[in-house]
Amino acid sequence: MSVSSSVWLPYKFLFTFLYLSFWFCPQSTLQLSVSTLFLFFCTYSFLPHLNELNRSPQNQIPNYSQWDEAMMSKELKQVLIPGPLIIGAGPSGLAVAACLKKRGVPSLILEKENCMASLWNLKTYDRLRLHLPKKFCELPYMKFPSEFPAYPTKQQFISYLEDYAKSFSIEPMFGQEVRWTKYDRSMRLWQVEAKESKFLCRWLIVATGENAEPVVPEIAGISNFGGRLLHTSIYKNGADFKGSKVLVVGCGNSGMEVSLDLCNSGAQVSLVVRDKLHVLPREIFGISTFALSMWLLKWFPVSLVDGLILLCSRMILGDTGQIGIKRPEFGPLHLKNATGKTPVLDVGAVAKIRSSEVKVVCGIRRFTAKGVEFVNGEVQEFDSVILATGYRSNVASWLKEGNFFSQKDGYPKNPFPNNWKGEDGAYSVGFTRRGLYGASIDAQRVAEDIARQWKSQMKHLHLDL
Ligand SMILES: Cc1cc2nc3c(=O)[nH]c(=O)nc-3n(C[C@H](O)[C@H](O)[C@H](O)COP(=O)(O)OP(=O)(O)OC[C@H]3O[C@@H](n4cnc5c(N)ncnc54)[C@H](O)[C@@H]3O)c2cc1C
Repeated sequence: MSVSSSVWLPYKFLFTFLYLSFWFCPQSTLQLSVSTLFLFFCTYSFLPHLNELNRSPQNQIPNYSQWDEAMMSKELKQVLIPGPLIIGAGPSGLAVAACLKKRGVPSLILEKENCMASLWNLKTYDRLRLHLPKKFCELPYMKFPSEFPAYPTKQQFISYLEDYAKSFSIEPMFGQEVRWTKYDRSMRLWQVEAKESKFLCRWLIVATGENAEPVVPEIAGISNFGGRLLHTSIYKNGADFKGSKVLVVGCGNSGMEVSLDLCNSGAQVSLVVRDKLHVLPREIFGISTFALSMWLLKWFPVSLVDGLILLCSRMILGDTGQIGIKRPEFGPLHLKNATGKTPVLDVGAVAKIRSSEVKVVCGIRRFTAKGVEFVNGEVQEFDSVILATGYRSNVASWLKEGNFFSQKDGYPKNPFPNNWKGEDGAYSVGFTRRGLYGASIDAQRVAEDIARQWKSQMKHLHLDL
């Protein structure tokens, strides 16, 4: 790395100017001599320190060849990153890296797994498709291929993300789980400890997702259950479950779809529905329910749009209360805004429940060796239990900084749209509870903000990039 000597050239001019002006000002001989000596001393003793100041850590920006060498070197444990460091190579991490690149800012992504978009590659079931139409799931600057269907399959979405990374030359560092991050006030840099190296950076972007860790509920006796117990993050398809009795715990989008998948594979499925929830058809008269809601919201208040959507849902799905799925007091959009809770978009599970191929059961009191006891006292045996109990953020476990993210739920403390920026150069992408659409909005805002700082820093530094 080299900081050019031209950086302190202006200071030389300044001191020379002051030095000369003292010579030409009418002053007493003694004053003049003392001032001259003092200025001479200041100029030549302070300038080397100015140079030192310019080499303080936040200005130490290595060039790329040295950075690469540093990455290669087994001995080097601490690496200074010139641009932002992004944690997580999911859609959010890729989106912000691309937005930064568009604005001329280099970045590095650390990813804990050995692939991009690990949620989609490793933790999702085979029949998964995007829940929302593709136009609401595009990342910035790249559309889905026109030949993709309105709801792309999981494989199509993964291939889109791979093409996205390729077209922006994004190459994450894999196998680098970030375990600890703290802001060092004396250096004015973030210290990031990953699996194999330590990193220092001025800008830290948290993109580890709302779904980083599977949630496994603590239910009495769960460890005594002798059957097969797995989370939906492990479930791939129903082939292994043909003819067996399976209990699916949780009725969000994953729970409903896994129940449908199991049923289609010949399993006897029971679905635990504990709370009230909104199930909506994925499409209303051929139009995506999500798109229709967004459009209606431009003209009408939330309460009216909720009323219209619920009326249409009733016409298409019937009264879900009659099949054991009671609706909450407030409408789906009102609830989404107030609590972030997403309504379930039905892709066929409701019909299976209506035909009693999927049985709705109440909450679990405790597990037994062979099954469960429900809160109504009924005891049933099951061969397998699949926990569709969702995911949670893992940020609170590694980000050792209290103001930006909540320790309680691992989300930024400020809600959308003020969630994306923390203090001291910390940012977040993908914690909006608004899926890929929200991640894209965050990515643009974060990149814009960092690019502004990067450019002003560049003006002050002459770099060997
Ligand atoms: C089954 C399912 C279907 C969904 N369908 C849709 C949909 O159709 N439309 C939509 O808009 N949204 C959908 N979502 C919601 C959301 O958009 C996706 O979860 C999306 O993948 C979020 O992207 P992300 O990059 O924020 O998080 P993730 O995709 O979870 O990516 C985060 C990355 O960070 C890595 N990571 C985590 N912790 C660390 C660490 N400590 N160090 C280094 N790396 C780390 C992970 O390995 C992962 O690769 C869906 C979610 C799920 C679970």
